[in-house]
Amino acid sequence: MTNFEDMQLKQPILDALKKAEYTTPTPIQEKAIPAALSGRDLIACAQTGTGKTAAFALPILQVLGEHDPAKIRALVLTPTRELAIQNFDCFKKYGRYLSLRCACIYGGAKQAQQEAQLKKGCDILIATPGRLLDFMGQGLVSLSDVEIFVLDEADRMLDMGFIHDVRRIASCMEDRKQTLLFSATIPKEIEQLAGELLYNPDMIRVDPETKPADTVEQHMIYLKKEDKRTVLLSLLQEPDVEKAIVFVRTKHGADRLKKQLTRDGVPCVVIHGDRTQGQRQNALEQFRSGQVSVLVATDVAARGLDIPDVSHVFNMDLPSEAENYIHRIGRTGRAGHSGISYSLVCEEELELLSDIEKLMGKKIPLTETEYSIPFPASAKKKAPAESSRKKQGKNQEKRPQGKQQEKAKPKAPAKKPQEPAAPKKTTEDRQRRRRRENQKAETHSDASLLVSLETPRSIHDKRSFAPRIDDSRSWEHENRRSSRRPDRRSRSVQHAGGARKRRPN
Ligand code: AMP
Repeated sequence: MTNFEDMQLKQPILDALKKAEYTTPTPIQEKAIPAALSGRDLIACAQTGTGKTAAFALPILQVLGEHDPAKIRALVLTPTRELAIQNFDCFKKYGRYLSLRCACIYGGAKQAQQEAQLKKGCDILIATPGRLLDFMGQGLVSLSDVEIFVLDEADRMLDMGFIHDVRRIASCMEDRKQTLLFSATIPKEIEQLAGELLYNPDMIRVDPETKPADTVEQHMIYLKKEDKRTVLLSLLQEPDVEKAIVFVRTKHGADRLKKQLTRDGVPCVVIHGDRTQGQRQNALEQFRSGQVSVLVATDVAARGLDIPDVSHVFNMDLPSEAENYIHRIGRTGRAGHSGISYSLVCEEELELLSDIEKLMGKKIPLTETEYSIPFPASAKKKAPAESSRKKQGKNQEKRPQGKQQEKAKPKAPAKKPQEPAAPKKTTEDRQRRRRRENQKAETHSDASLLVSLETPRSIHDKRSFAPRIDDSRSWEHENRRSSRRPDRRSRSVQHAGGARKRRPN
């Protein structure tokens, strides 16, 4: 597998990637970075969450060289303010050891601060179309020196009605620039736009990971939040758990869980973004070598982590982005070995569960424990493939359950579950959304690991395993491969400095 070093990236970029804990390029990065570095135009079909930002940011940082306050040499056009800010943060992260400067302009915010950024001079400008045209109209921005133009989320630009703005903006740049078009889908209009703006582009397509490996047996335990630690502890002590990764959403939560598990007599190590490189390597080494059999990790560690013989993955809480679930459980069941994953899900996470199941196109089988509470009927309705069920007919998409589940009703009255409260739509939904937004930033305000201080009890006898899940229904994605290439125009491509092709003026 390619690594970032193989891509001949500059040392300051490699250092920044190390600091960001990126060990392996994602598939889109693996394909798009060398293509973009070749200097050719590029159409990349990839969704958010695939690592597409670094796929265009790293080549830009690589080729721009030293800071030049007088010229904007790279433009990244994004449809929304949120995406603009996200891209800006990524450029800062990946370019932290470079002298290049980046500015970000978007609507819905006061002009003065953004104007001040521009006046200081920037090499890379990230902008939404409306604000950019506004600044261009005021003579605050000139695009005549742009060498690399990134059109990010082109299909969303189209949906949001920005396509004419994009054309106007593109017409203000020199023809010789390199254009990189990123889009989750390539509808006709985008194909047409690509035909107008790009010259003889490479085409790259990376489908989002929507299917976990068949070698992973998935389980979901629906329980109260305060019982999570007890259940986790008991599961970790099962004799078949040889090497386990426990995922939590936040750095703070990871540290806290590590302390609790250690106190409960389960030696473990932790990795997350706030640990130093040395600490992370040390932890991974202990885990790899089998010195310690439990690794507590945040999602940052889920990508690129390649430890061959992980027997179990436990999701202490669900990831805020559905795709990360696939990445998480993909740490087990590797190289043809079988693996088992358990997700401990509480009421607050039902929306996240629904997102995950929608992405996978199937439900995660429920596994009963003494601590299980009834899965709410409202969540069943919300669960994914209702539409595909309609399409595909009857008797489908019932959440798979172990046979023993019907028999093994929870016994202890103290644990007798109460009916979950009816969903309080508006406020609760808003709270969840806010929580998810916070969690995206791996905040320290993790409330999901509020754990019971009671002595953990064994759940062994009560656990019953659900059957292997049915993988036959896959989620259909709309992405279509576009075979059409933009018209060749009478420009040719030449090499400059050997490494990078540029168009002649
Ligand atoms: P993006 O699709 O660019 O929004 O990236 C999705 C998430 O993946 C972000 O949280 C990135 O920080 C993370 N990411 C991107 N590339 C890598 C990588 N090579 N290794 C680990 N994480 C990555």
